[in-house]
Amino acid sequence: ATATDWARIRADFPLLAREVHGKPLIYLDSANTAQKPASVIASVDDFYRWHNANVSRAVHTLGTEATDAYEGARRKLAAFFNVRADELVLCSGTTFALNLVAYSWALPRLQPGDAIVLTRMEHHANIVPWQLVAERTGATIKVADINAAGELDLDALYALLTPDVKLLSLTHVSNVLGTVNPVREICREARKRGIVTAIDGSQAAPHRPVDIAAIGCDFYAFTGHKMCGPTGTGALWARREHLAAMPPFIGGGEMIKEVRFEGTVFNDPPHKFEAGTPNIAGFVGLGAAVDYLSSLGMHNAEAREQELLRHATEELDKVEGLRIFGRAAEKAAVISFLVEGAHAHDLATLLDLEGVAIRSGHHCAHPLMHHFGVPATCRASFAFYNTHEEVEAFVAALRKVRRLLA
Ligand code: PMP
Repeated sequence: ATATDWARIRADFPLLAREVHGKPLIYLDSANTAQKPASVIASVDDFYRWHNANVSRAVHTLGTEATDAYEGARRKLAAFFNVRADELVLCSGTTFALNLVAYSWALPRLQPGDAIVLTRMEHHANIVPWQLVAERTGATIKVADINAAGELDLDALYALLTPDVKLLSLTHVSNVLGTVNPVREICREARKRGIVTAIDGSQAAPHRPVDIAAIGCDFYAFTGHKMCGPTGTGALWARREHLAAMPPFIGGGEMIKEVRFEGTVFNDPPHKFEAGTPNIAGFVGLGAAVDYLSSLGMHNAEAREQELLRHATEELDKVEGLRIFGRAAEKAAVISFLVEGAHAHDLATLLDLEGVAIRSGHHCAHPLMHHFGVPATCRASFAFYNTHEEVEAFVAALRKVRRLLA
């Protein structure tokens, strides 16, 4: 795509035209949540304006339209990720999706003596559910380490995959380091040893083509709001045999076939796991987001973000006293950094006054911060709608606020 194409694509995102503190907004927090194109916003508006009804309940026209729209979003997601629609459990996001695996798959299966393997770079959403399961089952947690570049040490990881290990759960892409893990190879090694694999796809799905079938995992979780969709949307993909064997996590309406006080017959997967009225409008919006990303082409988005990453890394490396955390050979457009003599929060606060939105903090990855011996980092994260001019302006603003703090 040419520079003009990218300018046109950026113009699809109304919010990116706004100002903050009298300065043009430079939004470098897409790893936290992505901005939404006008088509996504319009689809949510259109749903509430013209089609609003509950799903799977009413025979009237609006009920059918709402159900078609909701199920249509499931089919779009399935095509986007190369999986079957009836293997996608729609839910509020990665956090819910991983908890569903923890409570419905792991909790009834794990026993004292069993182990779960995680990695040092996991988000709290892929740590805490396993701790809760471990506490209740007597299973233990083992942690795979990373090298100085922030990459998984694969030999060390495979050495951890002993016969007591029942589950390996790891992130596809680190939200702090940007590291892209070779999940296909890792899942192959796990499968050889009879170990079930869960992948946290939160930071991969929005930034690169993801073919879940090709990865060969057992579970894949992702979140819609990072993929240009509405908040409160996401899904768990699971192999059919797991979904069939798993008990429901949350009970209520929609997830049943027949309810008697003597006992209840559950609906078929994936509906068995979707109790209650879902975020219908949200999934209509996520369907529109998938349409948007598909027409953009995830290869194009990835190539654009890699250019921005290269440019930003080059410029940041010229800033004296700036340390980048994470130098993986395969890396997504996420840059965590610290500047000598400046607190992460102070930098982010002063950058905000310049119109630059970056995140500062622990990024829901306390163990990783602990590993690096820092309480927090600054994180600039990019999406295809960012520009090279923004990279320059961000680094110029960083130099300016750094002088203020010195
Ligand atoms: N895992 C990773 C790697 C993430 O970056 C995030 C979002 N910051 C999550 C899990 C949790 O996603 P959500 O809050 O949408 O459930």
